[in-house]
Amino acid sequence: MPHTLPPLPYAYNALEPHIDEQTMRIHHDKHHDAYVNNLNAALKDHPDLDKLSIEDLIANLSKVPESIRTAVRNNGGGHYNHTLFWELMTPGGDKEPTGPLASAISSAFGGLAQLKEQFQKAAMGRFGSGWAWVVQSGSTLSIESTPNQDCPVMDGKKVILGCDVWEHAYYLKYQNKRADYLTAWWNVVNWSKVAERFSGAA
Ligand code: MN
Repeated sequence: MPHTLPPLPYAYNALEPHIDEQTMRIHHDKHHDAYVNNLNAALKDHPDLDKLSIEDLIANLSKVPESIRTAVRNNGGGHYNHTLFWELMTPGGDKEPTGPLASAISSAFGGLAQLKEQFQKAAMGRFGSGWAWVVQSGSTLSIESTPNQDCPVMDGKKVILGCDVWEHAYYLKYQNKRADYLTAWWNVVNWSKVAERFSGAA
C-alpha cells in the first residue's frame, strides 16, 4: 500500500496567530506531500518494504537496500515526523501536563519550565535544518535534536514530543527569528497527545 498524506487534524488557520495559515498550507500540502510522494517513488519496486508501517520502516533502515536507503531515510523520516508534528499541536493549546507525565517531567528536568528551556536550547543549537525532541526511555525523559528528517525512532528510541525547526516551518511569519517561533509554538502544544504517547510506552 502506498503511503498517503494524512489530512491535517484541524483547519489550516486553526493555529493562528502562533502558526500562520499560509505556512500551514505550504508545509502540509507541499512539503509533507512531497515527502510522501518521494517515499512512494523510492519504494515502488520494493513491495516487501511497502507492507511496513512508516514507523517500522524508519526504525529498520538497515534492512532497506542501500540503493534507496537515503531516499527512505529522508522522505520516510519526513513523512513520519510531519504526521506526528500535526498531531502534537492543537488549536488554542492544551492544559499543561498532569499525572504521570508531569511527574516524569519533574524527575527528568525539575519541571516544565526547565524542560522548555532545555528543549529550546536544543532547537536553537540545531545548525541548519532539523528537529528537537523529547525522548522517552522507560520512565525517563531526555532532550535530543536531529539533523534533516532524522528521528530518534531511527535509533530505536521513542519520541513523545517534537518540533520542526526547518526554516519552512516558520520563515514566512518569523523570518530568521527561530527563537520567537519556538516561544510561540509552546502555545499550541497538544499536551494530551504527549501524555497519551507517554502512557502508551513500553
Ligand atoms: Mn517541516
